[in-house]
Amino acid sequence: MKFVVDCMLGKCAKWLRILGFDTLFYSKAEDDRLIDLAREQDRILLTRDTGIIEKTKQIEVLFIKSEHWKSQVKQVLDELDLREQVKPYSRCIECNVMLKSLSKKQAKNLVAPFVYERSDSFALCPQCGRVFWPGTHLSDMNFKIEDILGED
Ligand SMILES: [Zn+2]
Repeated sequence: MKFVVDCMLGKCAKWLRILGFDTLFYSKAEDDRLIDLAREQDRILLTRDTGIIEKTKQIEVLFIKSEHWKSQVKQVLDELDLREQVKPYSRCIECNVMLKSLSKKQAKNLVAPFVYERSDSFALCPQCGRVFWPGTHLSDMNFKIEDILGED
């Protein structure tokens, strides 16, 4: 399931990427552009803008109720029944593309020696070239994911 997200939902968009979902977000984009992207790329539009909903006849829209990002993400997961599809850290947060896993050997020349020594799994973003490893993500982020996925 893929998304395009309106300008008011930046943090929600970032977290959907962290959870592994293909999510387009622009800090500035006209309503019509978002609607076009949704239609052309078969994406669900996530919005808090009731004005945009009136213009959207041929696309799927989810109106986001909360102003708080965590409740927004939970609403998306629950209403679209996506909890089983969550794959944390499978996508580059910046580029929105799937990461490729690297063997330890492949990662050797791409990361600092102390990182290489301490980690056994690595992943590369084919677009920006960043290499990720388990220590890239702060434990704070793991904690928040558990919080999002946990029951209220
Ligand atoms: Zn990237």
